[in-house]
Amino acid sequence: MSSATQSISVSAVHDAVPTSEGDGALVYRTIGTRNLRSFDPFLMLDEFHVRKPAGFPQHPHRGMETVTFMVEGAFSHKDFLGRAGTIRPGDLQWMTAGRGIVHSEMPATEGLNRGLQLWVNLSKKDKMCEAGYQELKKEDIPSKEGDGVVVHVIAGKSMGIESPVYTRTPTMYIDVHMEKGATFVQAIPEEYKAFAYVLEGTGTFGENNQIGKDHQIVLFGAGNSITIRATRALRFVIIGGKPLNEPV
Ligand code: MN
Repeated sequence: MSSATQSISVSAVHDAVPTSEGDGALVYRTIGTRNLRSFDPFLMLDEFHVRKPAGFPQHPHRGMETVTFMVEGAFSHKDFLGRAGTIRPGDLQWMTAGRGIVHSEMPATEGLNRGLQLWVNLSKKDKMCEAGYQELKKEDIPSKEGDGVVVHVIAGKSMGIESPVYTRTPTMYIDVHMEKGATFVQAIPEEYKAFAYVLEGTGTFGENNQIGKDHQIVLFGAGNSITIRATRALRFVIIGGKPLNEPV
C-alpha cells in the first residue's frame, strides 16, 4: 500500500450527442452513446435542456439510481405513490429506483430548465432494494471556497468536506466552479473510474493537459489525483464510482 500521489492523465474526450428524449425534450448525452455505451458503474449521463410543454411524462425505472442535479430553472417530479417535489438550481434528487418506480419529471418554469441526470447501476444484491429518495436543497449540500475555486460536494469528499448522501454503489460527485487562471487538485479513490463533464467554459485536465470545454466528457485514466486549470471561467462536475464489474 502506498499513499503516494499518482497524477491522473486524461484517456479520452468525447463530445455530447444531442438526442431527443421523453416528449419533445432535448438531452446532450455522453455516457450511453455509441462511442461510450457505459462507464461502469454509470449507465447514462444527460445534460437536459427542456422548455415547456416538453418533458418526461410517466415512465419506469428499475435496478438502478437516477441522480438529478439542477443547473437552471426547475423540475417537478411525481411518482406512482404520490410522492412529489420540485428541485431548483443547486438542488439534488438522488432516487434509488431499486425494485421499481414509475414517475414523471416535468419542467417547472417558463424558461430554460437545465440540469444533469446520471444513472448509477446497482449491484446484484441492491437491484431489488426498496425504492427511496435522498433530496438535498442547495443550502444542505456542503460547499467550500478558496483560491478561485468553489466546490459543492454532492457525494464523496472535496477540500476537506464530505457529503451526507449515502451511495449504495460507492460514488463521488463534485460540482466545481473555477475563476479564469485558477488551479484545482482533486483526490480520486484509486479503485474508482472517474470523469469530468464540462457545463461551462474551458480548461485543461490531467497530467497531459487535455482541453475540455462545455458539452464534453473528459475521461480519467489511472491514478489518485487530478489537476485542472481554468483557461476561462469554468464549471464542471467530477463524477467517479467503484466499478461493479457485473453484466448490465
Ligand atoms: Mn425518470
